[in-house]
Amino acid sequence: MKIAILPGDGIGTEIVEQAVRVLIALDLKLETETALVGGAAFEAHGHPLPESTLKLAQEADAILFGAVGDWKYDKLERALRPEQAILGLRKHLGLFANLRPALCYEQLTHASSLKPELVAGLDILIIRELTGDIYFGQPRGRRIASDGHFPGAEEAFDTMRYSRPEIERIAHVAFQAARKRSRKVTSVDKANVLETFQFWKDVVTEVHAQYPDVELQHMYVDNAAMQLVKAPKAFDVVVTGNMFGDILSDEAAMLTGSIGMLPSASLDKHNKGLYEPSHGSAPDIAGKGVANPLATILSAAMMLRYSLHQPAAADRIESAVRTVLTAGLRTPDIWSEGTHRVGTREMGDAVVAAVTGKTITKS
Ligand code: NAD
Repeated sequence: MKIAILPGDGIGTEIVEQAVRVLIALDLKLETETALVGGAAFEAHGHPLPESTLKLAQEADAILFGAVGDWKYDKLERALRPEQAILGLRKHLGLFANLRPALCYEQLTHASSLKPELVAGLDILIIRELTGDIYFGQPRGRRIASDGHFPGAEEAFDTMRYSRPEIERIAHVAFQAARKRSRKVTSVDKANVLETFQFWKDVVTEVHAQYPDVELQHMYVDNAAMQLVKAPKAFDVVVTGNMFGDILSDEAAMLTGSIGMLPSASLDKHNKGLYEPSHGSAPDIAGKGVANPLATILSAAMMLRYSLHQPAAADRIESAVRTVLTAGLRTPDIWSEGTHRVGTREMGDAVVAAVTGKTITKS
């Protein structure tokens, strides 16, 4: 099994280093190769996604990605900005399904802005379609309006569209993921107003016929946004389009209160995937050794589960993370009174110790 390691910029290099140490500690037959991406690749090769990096990503069985970006690149033309590397990888690798678990560890319930009883034990999976919808639909642009409320005025427009195969494949991902969990899927749409999402609802319902063992409910996006803060534990798998998923996955992430804890996966039709923390490159804390590496370490666990078919190894990492949290170890972003503050490397050391069955002490 070959893994492409793309640390990227800012805290990316620090957190990916810890995730790689944890993977090595598992003693699996893994081959890794590292390449530059984002701002680091722009500095070295003049492009955020050089051909050599893309080739490595294409040939690997899975990709472990840190984060890209820095404010110093904000003035670069759009095509050369670090963030374009992620869009390029999604496009070239056909990564259409974004999986974002929102898991609230019992030990961290105080970090949520919701009452502990609402979020304790929260475990939901948001599945967002990643390559379609209004974000990519053509035509789009600016023009002079020929009709509407203000004919003759300047206007901008985008196109919301989904094809049957695009909806079918993301629905299959959701139903199959639900089979590994509590067998309940909520499909989020806006079928009451949008033609695109009436079609979405119809196609998801048709695909559901192949999964009679999974419960399906439909919910309008405005209601879903409310229910996520009212009774988040009522959800298991949530599947939705690109724009609604963009918004709801960030809302769900915040229920857990700590962005440094949240992994994500972007999968193609063969379950090959790119795995990365849900946060960015955090230039404000880069190089200080204080970034939380757990989101990246948990992304490595997702990689073992979804792309490398090593569920036992994934379980070992996830249970090691629980062990270090129970032992009271906290990076500054999740620190609270009475717990033990550690840096990025110490947190990595603790997870490595836990996966190899060593005792964790708060020294
Ligand atoms: P960010 O997620 O990098 O940081 C937001 C806040 O969360 C910061 O205060 C940061 O210190 C903190 N934070 C993030 N990850 C943390 C961790 N692991 N441990 C502790 N604290 C953590 O978002 P931003 O500041 O809006 O963006 C910074 C750069 O990252 C920008 O250039 C942006 O474009 C880029 N970005 C990249 C990705 C990606 O690579 N997938 C995603 C989002 C943003």
